Amino acid sequence: MKGIDGEALKFSGQRRKMVDDQLAARGIRDPRILEAMKRIPRHLFVHESLQHRAYGDHPLPIGESQTISHPYTVAAMTEALNLAGREKVLEIGTGSGYQTAVLAEMAGQVFTIERIRSISLKAQKILDRLGYMKIVFKVFDGTYGWPDQGPFDAILIAASSPSVPQNLVAQLAEGGRLVMPVGGDGGGQKLLRVTREGGVIRETEIGDCRFVPLLGKYGWAEPLRPA
Ligand code: SAH
Repeated sequence: MKGIDGEALKFSGQRRKMVDDQLAARGIRDPRILEAMKRIPRHLFVHESLQHRAYGDHPLPIGESQTISHPYTVAAMTEALNLAGREKVLEIGTGSGYQTAVLAEMAGQVFTIERIRSISLKAQKILDRLGYMKIVFKVFDGTYGWPDQGPFDAILIAASSPSVPQNLVAQLAEGGRLVMPVGGDGGGQKLLRVTREGGVIRETEIGDCRFVPLLGKYGWAEPLRPA
């Protein structure tokens, strides 16, 4: 993050408190994640009228019935990807772009896909303004993944699917990690970590969560558009 301006420096006390009380106190250990989330101006990823709530312990609406993820969830999913700094990462569900910024601080290159154009364009605008250079955006159904850029060292899916899409597991590099929520809209979703090692695929449950649905070919069926 380079293009920092006066607006980005606001709320630094709330940001520090978010990291101490919501992340470090609940077991997020990776100092690079804590540092990144202390730096990134989360309030610039939500509408102006919600900026004063951006550091609270909750998700917030970002328009089009979508949400910016809860700070703890962003940190926990990033930690589960075990990033050292040089990885090629695929993110599905750009949303506000906040999680994308955290991934860009933690990895070598980030490819991010969002199905709603207006949401992707908003995220691109703020990430450009903050000076992130290593993010490549696409507006498409992310359940296809990004086969011509794969394989990926890490894949993060920010929307919940009926099951783990096997075509995405197939885009994981050897030693790769995938983190995603699985389960229905009514609650009871589980956060899963999937790894590929020596050709063996392993799935572990790492917590409970609540995400918007992953809509698309290998997720939930897209709602019919009104005629
Ligand atoms: N981590 C993001 C979460 C955004 S919510 C944040 O903190 O802002 C999940 C996003 O996934 C929504 O913007 C939604 O439009 C998007 N999404 C749902 N299904 C998708 C699909 N098949 N491909 C790409 N994006 C999808």
